[in-house]
Amino acid sequence: MTKITYYPPEYGKDEFNCAHCKVFAHQSWGGSLSSNLLNSSLPSDFLTVSKCRHCYELSIWIEGSLVYPAQITVEDPNDDMPDEVKKLYRESAQILPISPRAAAALLRLGLQILLGAVGGDGKNINNDIKKIVASGVESETQKALDILRVFGNSGAHPGEIKLDEDPGLVHKMYGLMNYVTDRLITQKNQINELFEGLPEGIKNQIESRDGKNKNEEKL
Ligand SMILES: [Zn+2]
Repeated sequence: MTKITYYPPEYGKDEFNCAHCKVFAHQSWGGSLSSNLLNSSLPSDFLTVSKCRHCYELSIWIEGSLVYPAQITVEDPNDDMPDEVKKLYRESAQILPISPRAAAALLRLGLQILLGAVGGDGKNINNDIKKIVASGVESETQKALDILRVFGNSGAHPGEIKLDEDPGLVHKMYGLMNYVTDRLITQKNQINELFEGLPEGIKNQIESRDGKNKNEEKL
């Protein structure tokens, strides 16, 4: 896959991908407007304007944050996501404003690695979903995994879903990535932790009960 480098707009930087035209271009910074127009007791970075040398459109910053034009922001990745998946998730979110298809393809790679971390082989998404479904997951988790698979595929291959016409759809995929991480990793970890905290005697009783049940089934 072609690596696309995207430098999100950053306060005070000379160059970045413009929030209007998306082109990597030089930015001129206007003097702080706070002292000129507004009450001079405001912080010096209260209101600042940058101008793109490619499209000449203005971007407006308040206290160092870009407020105009509005940016697409996605929720933070679930803490329990493997680091490599988190990195792909963040890269995908960064590139979303300029290429929803590239964003979807990166998220697909993240899903592939995530599935490898929860019992799949991390190579074939479809086979891994089959394996995970066979091990027993809620139908919503299976649906979420399949939605991610199908959307990811349309980012990687020409498909019936036109991602570039609906970046909002890709936007929803980040929520689904967090959802499946919660179901496949976070909740399992929490339950295992609580179970481990039970008194040894009780855990032994449970283990021998289930061992006994298994023997009964065999009879
Ligand atoms: Zn521009």
